[in-house]
Amino acid sequence: MFKESVIGKTGQWWKLGIGVIAMLFGSIAPVVDSTGISMMTGTVIALVGYAFSIAFISCPQCRLRWFWKALIYSELYKPLFTKSTCPNCEHEF
Ligand SMILES: [Zn+2]
Repeated sequence: MFKESVIGKTGQWWKLGIGVIAMLFGSIAPVVDSTGISMMTGTVIALVGYAFSIAFISCPQCRLRWFWKALIYSELYKPLFTKSTCPNCEHEF
């Protein structure tokens, strides 16, 4: 299913992966004492991961930053994960 999505077809899964891993790490690491990561540092790591996904996952055709737009129009999330066309320029990938 995800492989057929516009994010999969444009080869940008790894960017989402980095963002998700950073968000998870930044959320979990501060509550695990042995990591020595403070709540502040964890929050920064999580935000950087989130910002990375937003800034670098974009349409190769029209350059629209999909997740940036999805922040404003949350109905965009579904087509990004289910359709193989850009929700903005309708380019088929
Ligand atoms: Zn596009």
